[in-house]
Amino acid sequence: MKIVERQRVNEQDSVIRSKNFEEVSLGFDEETMLIEAERCLGCKTAPCEKGCPVGVKIPDFIKALKDGDPLKANEIIKETNSLPAVCGRVCPQEIQCEQLCVRKNKLGGSVAIGALERYAADAALKANVKPVKPTKKLDLKVAVVGSGPAGLSCAGELAMNGAQVTVFEAFHKAGGVLVYGIPEFRLPKSIVEKEIDSLKELGVKFKLNTVIGKTFYLEELLDEYDYVFIGSGAGLPVFMNIKGENLNGVYSANEFLTRVNLMKAYKEDSVTPIQRGNVVAVVGAGNVAMDAARTALRLGAQKVYIVYRRSRQEMPAREDEIEHAEQEGIEFRLLTNPVEILGKEKVEGIRCIKMELGEPDQSGRRRPVPIQGSEYDLPCDQVIMSIGTSPNPLIKNSAKELKTSKWGTLEVDDNLLTSIDRVYAGGDAVTGSATVILAMGAGRKAARHMLQKYAERE
Ligand SMILES: Cc1cc2nc3c(=O)[nH]c(=O)nc-3n(C[C@H](O)[C@H](O)[C@H](O)COP(=O)(O)OP(=O)(O)OC[C@H]3O[C@@H](n4cnc5c(N)ncnc54)[C@H](O)[C@@H]3O)c2cc1C
Repeated sequence: MKIVERQRVNEQDSVIRSKNFEEVSLGFDEETMLIEAERCLGCKTAPCEKGCPVGVKIPDFIKALKDGDPLKANEIIKETNSLPAVCGRVCPQEIQCEQLCVRKNKLGGSVAIGALERYAADAALKANVKPVKPTKKLDLKVAVVGSGPAGLSCAGELAMNGAQVTVFEAFHKAGGVLVYGIPEFRLPKSIVEKEIDSLKELGVKFKLNTVIGKTFYLEELLDEYDYVFIGSGAGLPVFMNIKGENLNGVYSANEFLTRVNLMKAYKEDSVTPIQRGNVVAVVGAGNVAMDAARTALRLGAQKVYIVYRRSRQEMPAREDEIEHAEQEGIEFRLLTNPVEILGKEKVEGIRCIKMELGEPDQSGRRRPVPIQGSEYDLPCDQVIMSIGTSPNPLIKNSAKELKTSKWGTLEVDDNLLTSIDRVYAGGDAVTGSATVILAMGAGRKAARHMLQKYAERE
């Protein structure tokens, strides 16, 4: 029997795409989608589902695709995943559902579950499928703080069940990292907007430019709402505290990406300027670092380096993103750590030391150890720090009873209740920087618990 290999999605050519902000991956066309869907063996035990943090019914939705019904496929996915067009694009499927696919090693590679999910979701967006409105209204009012994936999925689950939900968002646009962090070339903003519009149709209200802990305090929300969900993310950048970090030309990846994505700083008429680097060094090797590097390239940089203290094997970014960055010409300086940023007022370079890998550390990864005397200077005129983020302490500082860990993440119990009665939390604010699907899973879990408590009360 001839084994059908995993189908590849179409992509923009790497030379062309490195100069524009349009989406890199073009997804499957119908013919390729059908070939790929047919590769799914429809396993009764569905090992793939165990790898999905929200338990999407994977063989069922792929069966609907095989039957030529992408809208039905989308409906099945939406039972447990409120943002399939987003997850189909940015979820790390290769270490989740696709990792457990029985075809992975011997039968031409795992089924491309993420790309199939995207196909179904895009078909529904194109067909302008409206959300099913709840038949009855509940006497349940919930305030959601933050409009990232955690807040949106919490709001969606509640609104679908008839609760009255208001989302409070600090920025002038809803979507969290989906709009201010992940660039347009990976996740078009129009997709996030459509998802938010469908929540509005379900009756969810959005109060933008509203900072909880400043505009309103948590206790004020508790006076007006039955429950509060905090999904405020982890948007506070971490720096290395090395000499030169406050020179002109050093950005945190967070600020850099926010200026470009949310404030459209690359446009001539933008009110928020951004420096365009000619030679850019991005420190770190997660998804955020890849996004910053590829954005710097699209802004016109002649050379972009990724500077990372471990080896390629330990890089935390998704394999696809690393490959895309490589194809676009980003140069990886691995086993290399910055020790100083050089310059008088403006960045002129970065002093690095070479590293080797020693014994595994607490994370299980081999610890990078500096090689004495191996320092060298890498000339550049912009440095983007992308070594992690932590939760913003604003809400915690304005509500002292809110317990946090030593890393500043909010402490919650198994039901995601915080140390304050009627206040839940989830997503990056609890876990530290993680993934879209985990944040969504948390938002939904908290919503389910609120609905359960409401049902017990009635
Ligand atoms: C550049 C980048 C690329 C990434 N790439 C991927 C990827 O490819 N795949 C993946 O799975 N994950 C990726 N992630 C991680 C993922 O985006 C996050 O794990 C996820 O967005 C967390 O969701 P959240 O809802 O908890 O927080 P966020 O998305 O951070 O949303 C929190 C929201 O709360 C708002 N807020 C904060 N404080 C307040 C306040 N006091 N009052 C009102 N509003 C407030 C913020 O403005 C924000 O809009 C990436 C992250 C970044 C930064």
